[in-house]
Amino acid sequence: MAKKENKFSDYGIGTQAIHTGTGYDEGTGAVRRPLHMANSFKLPDDLSKVNYSSTDLLMYSRNGNPNQHWLEEKTAALYGADDAIVLASGVGALHALFWTLLKSGDRVVYPRVSYMAVYRMFHELFNRKFGVDTVMTDMTDLEAVKAAITPGTRLVHIETPDNPTVGVADIAEIAKIAHENGAILSVDNTFASPLNQKPLDLGADFVVDSLTKFINGHGDAQGGAILSNDLETMDRIRYEAQVNVGAVISPFNAWQIMRGSVTFPLRMRRINESTQKIAEWLETRKNVTFVSYPGLRSHPGYELARRQMKNGCGGVIAFGLNADDKAVERFCAALKVVAFAVSLGHDESLIFPQPSYDERISLYPEKFRKGFIRFSVGLEEPEDIIRDLDQALQATGL
Ligand SMILES: *Cc1c(COP(=O)(O)O)cnc(C)c1O
Repeated sequence: MAKKENKFSDYGIGTQAIHTGTGYDEGTGAVRRPLHMANSFKLPDDLSKVNYSSTDLLMYSRNGNPNQHWLEEKTAALYGADDAIVLASGVGALHALFWTLLKSGDRVVYPRVSYMAVYRMFHELFNRKFGVDTVMTDMTDLEAVKAAITPGTRLVHIETPDNPTVGVADIAEIAKIAHENGAILSVDNTFASPLNQKPLDLGADFVVDSLTKFINGHGDAQGGAILSNDLETMDRIRYEAQVNVGAVISPFNAWQIMRGSVTFPLRMRRINESTQKIAEWLETRKNVTFVSYPGLRSHPGYELARRQMKNGCGGVIAFGLNADDKAVERFCAALKVVAFAVSLGHDESLIFPQPSYDERISLYPEKFRKGFIRFSVGLEEPEDIIRDLDQALQATGL
C-alpha cells in the first residue's frame, strides 16, 4: 500500500486526532464516516487482476475494511508514521510483526520485563515450536543489551516504559546497537502513547501500540497497531499475517476506537498530570515501599525519560505496599473510585496486584517482589483518586 495520506501533518497532534481518517461521507454528506459492517464488497467485472491475498482491493473484510483503513490513517498520523496496520488486539499486532519478521534459526533479543504475551511467545512458543533462538535481557541496562545483541541478530524487541515495572529503556541507544549488528528494532509504545513518545523518530524500525489502552481510552474495544516507515515490510505483514493468519479488527471495533481516539491527546495530557501528582503523593506515604514512575527523581530512568519522553511520562505507576498478598487484595477491594481489574488506559482508574507467587516475579528487580501493585490512573479528579487510595490504605491498616 502507499504511504498514508495526511493532509494535516503541519498541524498539532490535537488537531490531527480530530481531522485525520475522517471527512464528509461521500454518499450523504454526513460529517461522520459510516460504520461498514459488511463481510464482502462488489467485485470488479474483470476478475483476472484480483489478488485474493492482497489488501489493496476492498473485497472481503479480512483483506481490509473501510473502518480499518480510516483508523490506520489516524494512527499513522498520531505517530507521524508513513504507514499503519490496525489489527484485532495489541497481541495480534505483536504476533503479526514477529511472525512476519522471524524464521527458524533467527535470533531475537527480548526484554526481561515485558507484557505477558511477549514473554510467552519468546519464552515458550517461537523457540519451542519454530526453533527461533530467543535471548532475554535487561533492556534498562545498556551493557547487558550490548552483550546480548550479537552480529546476525534478526530482531530486538523492547517495551518502554515496561509493563508492569515501568522501567525505561533507551530507544536511541538500543536502535544504534541493533543497527550496528544488522538487527531490526521494534518498540512497544503502549505505556508511553504517541503524545509522549515517538520511537520511529528515535531510530526504531517498528512500533506496536495496543489501541485497547490509551488511544481508545474508554475500556470498550480492543485493537492493536503496527507503525513503520518501511512500506515493503508492512505489505508483507498484511499479506503474511493479516490476510493469511487473520487477526483482522472488526469494523465495529475500528469505528469505536476511531471515536475514542478523537479525544486521545486531551485525555493523555490530563492523565500525565494526574499521574505525576499521584506518584508524588504515594512517595510520601510511610507504608508505600517504593514508587516506580519515570517522572520521579527517584526513578533510575528519570534523566533518560526527560530526554526521550515529551509532555509527560504516561498513566501507569508501579508501587509497593508493606503488606503480604492477602493484605494487598484487601487494599484493592477497599477502593471505591478505582476499579479492581486488569487493563490500563481507560477512563476509570484501574488497579491490579502482582502477587509474590507470580511465575515471573524473580525476573523483576528485588524491591518488586513484595506487595507490588500496578496502577493505571484514569480521568477522575486526581484529588478524588488520592482520597480513595488514602481511605483504602487506612482501611487496610497501612
Ligand atoms: C495491553 C498491552 C498489550 C496487549 O494489548 P491487547 O490489546 O490487550 O492485546 C501489549 N503491550 C502492552 C505494553 C500492553 O500494556
